Amino acid sequence: MAKSTSTKTTKKRATAKKTEPMKGRLLGAHVSTAGGADKAIDRADEHGFTAMQIFTKNNNRWDAKPITDELAERFREKFADSSLRFSMAHSSYLINLCSENKETLAKSRRSLVEELERCDKLGVPHLNFHPGSHGGRGIDAGLRLVADSINWAHERAPDLDVTSCLEFTAGHGTALGYRFEHLARIIDKVEDNQRMTFCVDTAHLCGAGHNLAHSLGYEKTIEEMDEVVGLKRLVAVHANDSKMEVGSRRDRHEHIGKGYIGVEGFRRLMNDKRLWDVPFVLETPKGEEMKEDDENIAALLKLVK
Ligand SMILES: [Zn+2]
Ligand SMILES: [Zn+2]
Repeated sequence: MAKSTSTKTTKKRATAKKTEPMKGRLLGAHVSTAGGADKAIDRADEHGFTAMQIFTKNNNRWDAKPITDELAERFREKFADSSLRFSMAHSSYLINLCSENKETLAKSRRSLVEELERCDKLGVPHLNFHPGSHGGRGIDAGLRLVADSINWAHERAPDLDVTSCLEFTAGHGTALGYRFEHLARIIDKVEDNQRMTFCVDTAHLCGAGHNLAHSLGYEKTIEEMDEVVGLKRLVAVHANDSKMEVGSRRDRHEHIGKGYIGVEGFRRLMNDKRLWDVPFVLETPKGEEMKEDDENIAALLKLVK
């Protein structure tokens, strides 16, 4: 088949998706920023995503090139013209807001300020980060220190249109955030807690012991999430199936329907009216072409009743 024909078809499909939202849901994936932050928008738009997550810097380095005014403008313009309706950023993996190492703690706090500012410059309204690992200092002291670190960052980065979004974790090692109560206690100790939101990763819920595949387990999870933290603060769901069993405290992402959450778990998530307005963002393995993302999105949409 002639090459031009297939290109045309792809283009046509992308445009069609744009005017035909994904059954009213905001859906997409974590997208690579290789070549520049605005390139992520091109990739997301090509696949008709309505939601995306990005890293605003290399996620395994402390330092970062500043975001130029030109890049920020290009990013905002492209976003407005794209299929996207929602964006969020995931922080660097190096940040630990309750590190026992003084130098790491100081770097983490500065990094949080910097990443909040980078989001603000790009117009990305949420910076998602893991609460932190307490090392040996214990849960209570760890939670207090995370809140202190966030207060420290908020004081140095005031008046930004970016929320500090705590991610629920699987609870590996001494990681905090594997109980809704952990998130609530941090939010409670943050002075300007209007700036606080949260995100749940379904694979992390599974690792932390929530059985989303089971009707009772599912109901208990959503009710507890609402009672303890409050669904009004939930800004996104990281939609990942889990390679690890319920309660494993481990975090290994699997394609939708192929893991321990399975088709039944995602059917509940996709049809839950309480989550109707919450964007779902995939963080599942994929190649450069991102066809796995298309397949996972199709798998989610197929479950909508
Ligand atoms: Zn994460
Ligand atoms: Zn996640």
